[in-house]
Amino acid sequence: MGESPDLINGNTTNKKIKLTMEKPLSKKELVERLKALEADTTPKERSMGAMCYSPSLPELITAKCDLCHKKFQYSGWGSEIDRMKDIVKEMKDIGYDVRLEIACNDCAENNNEQLVRTDDINYIFYFRTDPSEDYHRAIANDYDSYKCLLAFLKNEREYAGHYDNTYFVDEKKETLTFMTGIKFDE
Ligand SMILES: [Zn+2]
Repeated sequence: MGESPDLINGNTTNKKIKLTMEKPLSKKELVERLKALEADTTPKERSMGAMCYSPSLPELITAKCDLCHKKFQYSGWGSEIDRMKDIVKEMKDIGYDVRLEIACNDCAENNNEQLVRTDDINYIFYFRTDPSEDYHRAIANDYDSYKCLLAFLKNEREYAGHYDNTYFVDEKKETLTFMTGIKFDE
């Protein structure tokens, strides 16, 4: 009786709590972090991944637009939306002010005139490091861009792409700028 349910999860739980309590970095600190990653001269080991991996054929999926609340169809995989939401939630869990909206093509065009429509479903990613600032917005439909940013925010040097190839965060400065609006060279 009275046995703590925490014991069941053991270390995993503790690790998670530690991560959540870490303070999110400011823009300046993120710039410093990338510089530190770039300065790391440890040899880079690359995995080529499984290039011949072929996922099942896409299906026609119905999604709801977060902006106009209309339903629309796109061709993709059922798990795609959840996967996108999960990775953004992970960024949120470590303390970052991020948000994800799903938009139909009409809304993506109307509300983000500076952004190019790339697909029949649009993932609008919001990022800011300071609550007094406006969110940086990007239509980011490429899952690997989220993986790149998550690795960076977690101070991990590398990440596995969609086909399990290894990528290094410090070689993806453009992706990080696209996702966060941070100009790392200023
Ligand atoms: Zn819409």
